[in-house]
Order: sequence, then C-alpha cells, then structure tokens
Amino acid sequence: MTEGKIVKSLSGFYYVLSENGIVYQCRARGNFRKRKITPLVGDDVEFEAENLTDGYVLNILPRKNVLVRPPIANVDQALVVFSVKEPDLNLQLLDKFLVHIEANRIEPVICFTKIDLLGEHETKNMDSVAEIYQSIGYHVLFLSMKDKKTNDKITPYLKEKITVVAGQSGVGKSSLLNLLNPSLKIETNSISSHLGRGKHTTRHVELFSVAGGLVADTPGFSSLAFSHFTKEELSDTFIEISKAGEYCKFRGCTHLAEPGCAVKQAVEDGDIAKSRYSHYEAFFKEIKETKRRY
Ligand code: GDP
Ligand code: ZN
Repeated sequence: MTEGKIVKSLSGFYYVLSENGIVYQCRARGNFRKRKITPLVGDDVEFEAENLTDGYVLNILPRKNVLVRPPIANVDQALVVFSVKEPDLNLQLLDKFLVHIEANRIEPVICFTKIDLLGEHETKNMDSVAEIYQSIGYHVLFLSMKDKKTNDKITPYLKEKITVVAGQSGVGKSSLLNLLNPSLKIETNSISSHLGRGKHTTRHVELFSVAGGLVADTPGFSSLAFSHFTKEELSDTFIEISKAGEYCKFRGCTHLAEPGCAVKQAVEDGDIAKSRYSHYEAFFKEIKETKRRY
C-alpha cells in the first residue's frame, strides 16, 4: 500500500499522484465507502497500484478542511486576486473574500494585479492600501503580467501547498495561471470574447503541478453569501478586530455601539483601518438580514 494525493476526479476515476511522481488511474474500493465518504480532489489517500498505470483507492486520510465550491479537500492557501483597475479595486469585496477564506482556515495571499495601469499618485495610494493588510499580517503582492519578475514573486508561495485562486472575473486569474504554467492554456477574457464563447467551461476540478505545488485550475469561491455565518464567527474572521475585541468591557461585545468597546477605540486611534471596520459593520448587518429571512 502506498500514499498519494488525488489530483483529478472524473467519471468515477480518481487520479492519484504518488510520491514517485506517477499518476495512477484508480477506482474506489475501500471501506470508507460504507461511511459514505466520497473521495475528493486534494485528498491524501492510501492506494494499491495494480500495475504501472492503474490502482485502487483504499483509504482516505483525515482532512484538514473541505471547500464546497470548488470541491477540494486540504486547501492550504488562496491567492486572492484583485486588479487595481479594470475592474476597479473593490475593498469591500476583498474583505468579503478574506472573511470566507479565514472561516475555512485557509491562508490568503493578496495579489493586486494590473499594477502597470497605475499612475505615480495611484501607486502611492495602493501602497497605503497594502499597508492596511500587511499590518494585519497578510502577505501582499503587486503583480503585472507585463513584468518579467511576476513569476519569481509568486513561485515561492506555491511550493508544497494546495492553492486555490479566488477573485472576480476579469482581474487576471487565468493570465496569472498561464504565466506560471504555460501548458495550462486557460482561456483569458480577451481571447474568449474574440471567439464569442464562455470561459472556464471546465466541468471537473483538477490540481496542476505548478512551481513545486498544486494549484486548482477552476477559480474558486463563487458563492459568497453569509447564510452559514453567525455574528460571532464574523468578528473571528476579522483578525485585527478579534484581537482588539479581547479588551472590550463586555464579553460578547458586537463592537457596534457598546460602551467601553476596545475595537471602536482602536478605529479612532487609527490602529484599525476605517475601511475594515465599516466593512465589518456592513457584513454584520447583512448577516442579521440573512438570518431574518429564514
Ligand atoms: P480572469 O477572468 O480573472 O481569469 O482574467 P483574465 O486572465 O482573463 O484577464 C482579463 C483581462 O485582463 C485580459 O484581457 C488580460 O489580458 C488582462 N490582464 C491580465 N493581467 C493583466 C496585467 O497585469 N496588466 C494588464 N494591463 N492587463 C492584464
Ligand atoms: Zn467591542
């Protein structure tokens, strides 16, 4: 019996990448099936090779996490891709992505793309935006497909990790993946509009070997509704709010209107960014309204 990782699942077959670098086409034959667990892309498994190409998945090893969309297990990291222009940077949406990524216990790497479109003054503005996120402890990368160093900037983050790529349409996710692994040949916006057909028509999830790691080719986190969130979970996902909140006067402080709130104080003192706090307020309201509907 050998260990491996499922890198693709298609038509009842699981493609298991073994430690020797060979991908085996496997069927499921383990007693995990009795427990109604379906193998997922990203799963670490024990399998038995029948010959040099085929085998059987016998056991699924414990999972660290499971993403629902795209369905992948054991995701370590998300590249959160936001263009600084075209489409314009939307910090509220960025914070929403971060909330969902934190809730899944996935490490985000914030990638600001298309920085070649910025003028000098705008570049300074972006530096202060980056500072907000760096001071929370996030990695922030500035990228441009026109810069030859882009590949080198990103590569160290991918090694030995399973990475999903998150972000709105048109921000440059496909371009970035193609740059990292030219054999992927994912359609980009400009090409697909020329040919008049939709992009990302991929029906299956697949992990590709890129820079010593594995990257999901399907841009993820398509659903960003708060239906599964409680208000308490929300403040946990805003790292700096949750840290400051330890010093609030009341336990269970919502940081909205309570007296002696250390979070509101930190916003006033400039230790927590106003934009982050106002997005926290907006999401809090959104969760309250979502709950009311059920
Ligand atoms: P996706 O929808 O997130 O996968 O975005 P695409 O990779 O399809 O890119 C959308 C458009 O932005 C395409 O026309 C790309 O050529 C363009 N684009 C991507 N990266 C950059 C960049 O760094 N600079 C500029 N100026 N354009 C870019
Ligand atoms: Zn508080």
